[in-house]
Amino acid sequence: MSAYTIQPSKIPAFPITGSDELFPIRRVFCVGRNYSEHAREMGHDPDREPPFFFMKPADAVVSADGVINYPPLTQELHHEVELVVAIGKDGFNLSPEVALEHVWGYGVGVDLTRRDLQAQAKKMGRPWDWAKGFDEAAPCSALTPVRATGHPEAGWIWLRVNGVERQAGDLADQIWAVNEVISHASKSVKLKAGDLIFTGTPAGVGSLKVGDSVQAGIDGIGKLAFTVGPRLD
Ligand code: MN
Repeated sequence: MSAYTIQPSKIPAFPITGSDELFPIRRVFCVGRNYSEHAREMGHDPDREPPFFFMKPADAVVSADGVINYPPLTQELHHEVELVVAIGKDGFNLSPEVALEHVWGYGVGVDLTRRDLQAQAKKMGRPWDWAKGFDEAAPCSALTPVRATGHPEAGWIWLRVNGVERQAGDLADQIWAVNEVISHASKSVKLKAGDLIFTGTPAGVGSLKVGDSVQAGIDGIGKLAFTVGPRLD
């Protein structure tokens, strides 16, 4: 086998609750709209249209236990707390009935969004990548295996900024349940062990500013906390 011409990057890997092992991250899929109240606050009809997806780079997933810098190019950095699904087994064209067999575990993540860039992209018919896929755009809690969490069908999901509640909802209010989200994603691509799926956010998304303290959690799954660091630009 030929040698690499430059040193290859390390595979992004993530801490696991109660273990010294790491979860290797392959790709990050995110569901665009998955709670009715959030669909309405973004100006959309929350009818049960098929879920749509966008992606973040695997190394945008960072541990949410310190400082997350305020990214460049935006005046409107938004928080979106989400249930994160970690895929542990490859699968293609999965039915909702078998989809959960492919879940390794769960976590809590924040889909950080440069909302002003996203609004511009929507208006101009451009892709969302620059709004969603920047460095540190996906702070996440440690991941917890299914054997400890089960498969959550309900549970309070919340986010506070400086102690004030911004987002609150229940996993039971997801338009598409986890097994359905996995099934849909697996019809588009071969899901692989190591893939993460951010499953959408409840209502109450809003702006973060430098110095804000963010706490978020999902009952039975985990919690995270980080501070918004200085602007990078
Ligand atoms: Mn989101």
